[in-house]
Amino acid sequence: MDYKTKPTSREELRGIARFIRKLFKCKNKYRFDVMDAFERIPSVIPAVTCLVVEDDEIEGDIPARCVPDFEGHYTIEVKSSIYDGAAEGIGGYRAHILHEICHAILCLLGFTPILDRAFKNNELKPFESMEWQAKALCGEILMPYEETEGLSVRQIRYLCHVSRESAELRYNNYRKPEPKTPLERRARQWF
Ligand SMILES: [Zn+2]
Repeated sequence: MDYKTKPTSREELRGIARFIRKLFKCKNKYRFDVMDAFERIPSVIPAVTCLVVEDDEIEGDIPARCVPDFEGHYTIEVKSSIYDGAAEGIGGYRAHILHEICHAILCLLGFTPILDRAFKNNELKPFESMEWQAKALCGEILMPYEETEGLSVRQIRYLCHVSRESAELRYNNYRKPEPKTPLERRARQWF
């Protein structure tokens, strides 16, 4: 399920990612400490609270969720098995948690749903999809753009503590040939 929101670009999200890393005083050049952000978020961003919940409190295979109270506050609920896995350093689980934090941050920055109706996955254009925006912001925070340029998939995985899929996505983004036309350049921002 996805929602339409105001459009953004990969470049804008990259700027937000740099700001978020600074906000959480991330000292490591590569690895963003998701567990530290999870613990400290109410003191850094008072409109967001993070909670660990029992696995059966969230239905199905949904690892975590961001629950708005519609008064400007967001609660990130994370299944305890996902929290434990993330604390042990499983890259995909770290990303699940940060993805939900990104949803809250983007909403606070005004990227809220602009239509009541929900859309199916991949029905919206990437740049106006809340799901794409959260995924892209999460990736940019976990794998800083300039720092990971020129690194191998293994290096990205190891240095940034991310899953193989995330590292491959980032790696392949660098290998795309330069866009030749203004249209290609615009289209590139969406992916
Ligand atoms: Zn999401």
